Amino acid sequence: MSCVLCDSDGGELVWQDGHCRVIVANEAGYPGLIRVVWGAHVAELSDLTLAERHHLMAVVTTVERVVRETMRPTKVNLAALGNMVPHLHWHVIPRYADDAHFPQAIWGSVQRPVPNDVAADRAAMAQHLPDALQKALAVELH
Ligand SMILES: [Zn+2]
Repeated sequence: MSCVLCDSDGGELVWQDGHCRVIVANEAGYPGLIRVVWGAHVAELSDLTLAERHHLMAVVTTVERVVRETMRPTKVNLAALGNMVPHLHWHVIPRYADDAHFPQAIWGSVQRPVPNDVAADRAAMAQHLPDALQKALAVELH
């Protein structure tokens, strides 16, 4: 069976090492949504060794911090669902009290529309993410 995360990067690739990769998802309505994708096709976090788990969570944590600094969200959501694609990946999602789904998960029901100017401001902040992520990960990983 084919797997979209084995067959493609799954977004704009901004960083990778021998274990995992960081992609900008370019998700409609959610600028700044980053995915950290484990390289090997494993389904669950507990499929990894302890060292692998620590490495993955170090990457997720650095990504979370960069998303906070760059996107200035109300909250960051971390999620590893994998129901649609059973290939271990973390979503790092900047959330705002006035975003379309807050306080529900972004996969929940829509709570409100987001004004165009607000969406444009957040898309503009997200333009800085690839560079900021590459710089931070180069310093903090390895
Ligand atoms: Zn896969």
